[in-house]
Amino acid sequence: MIRERVPLAPLSTFRVGGPARLLAEPMTEGELRAVMALVNDLKLPYFYVGLGSNLLISDAGFPGVVIRARGELTKIWRDGDLICAGPSARLLLLTAFAAKQSLSGMEPLAGIPGTVGGGLYMNAGAYGGEIADTFVDCRTLTASNRIETLTKSDIAFGYRAAPELQRVIALSSRYKLTAGDSYKISHEMRRVWMLRRDKQPIEHPSAGSIFKRPPGDFAGRLIEGAGCKGLRIGGAIVPGRHAGIFINDRAGSADDIVRLIRTVRKRVFDKYGILLETEVLPVGFETDPFSI
Ligand SMILES: Cc1cc2nc3c(=O)[nH]c(=O)nc-3n(C[C@H](O)[C@H](O)[C@H](O)COP(=O)(O)OP(=O)(O)OC[C@H]3O[C@@H](n4cnc5c(N)ncnc54)[C@H](O)[C@@H]3O)c2cc1C
Repeated sequence: MIRERVPLAPLSTFRVGGPARLLAEPMTEGELRAVMALVNDLKLPYFYVGLGSNLLISDAGFPGVVIRARGELTKIWRDGDLICAGPSARLLLLTAFAAKQSLSGMEPLAGIPGTVGGGLYMNAGAYGGEIADTFVDCRTLTASNRIETLTKSDIAFGYRAAPELQRVIALSSRYKLTAGDSYKISHEMRRVWMLRRDKQPIEHPSAGSIFKRPPGDFAGRLIEGAGCKGLRIGGAIVPGRHAGIFINDRAGSADDIVRLIRTVRKRVFDKYGILLETEVLPVGFETDPFSI
């Protein structure tokens, strides 16, 4: 259940990152609480990883315990008119489950990589919808190992933000959708999938959009306007077609990606006076690696 010095690159969709001092993979809520007790006893820093699809993990790795839940914690089920998911259930399986149950409301989320817990933390969204839209409540595990429930009104969901989840681990969560036609829901999800496939370089390691959307504009437009399309540092590339989603040519390091992000931020700032805010989250860095 707990291993030492485990490489983190395979646990992140960017495929970069050094080792975790310890990697804990609890299969049940009981095991997760045992890990949290250990973290508290040893006074080690911890980081809870979902699918690692929004992370940039440093080449030095993480000096504490990385927790990655599996087993029972990936379950999806129905409870009356609500659908429910464990923290490490894949978001795309939750959307597929909703379609199968003829429940509408999650169509815009179809195809977003990541887990349900990571989706909540980021308030993941696309095409005019976000996970907060159908969210009802979630049980959470606090750093002091207590279980508490947060309802929708307890969380100040914003654009790619759920501040109250920064201090806790989201456990199982519940969603209220509306009854619909399974065929129509699946059809709409397929349409969204196709749009994503056309717009995103899904064949390369990436962490999705590097930057948040600046008010009234698009990061991709500013990046292109600042002449950064095609820019490469080591194995990190600003792709020609999707400037907002940087990719790793598989030989890249976290340091390459950091330097590329800083270069692009600076060029956009010099040209437009706009400081792009990163959406990708740094892990294992001592200071903010993206500041310019
Ligand atoms: C090709 C591609 C396309 C993408 N498209 C989109 C998109 O359209 N829209 C969008 O919003 N995002 C998109 N993303 C980004 C990413 O998929 C989302 O942010 C996703 O919700 C992250 O989930 P994760 O499980 O991978 O979280 P991780 O990247 O593992 O973690 C992200 C943060 O969530 C925290 N976290 C994870 N689980 C929990 C939990 N149970 N409790 C508390 N905190 C937790 C982590 O500690 C970390 O701080 C894309 C990424 C890729 C690679």
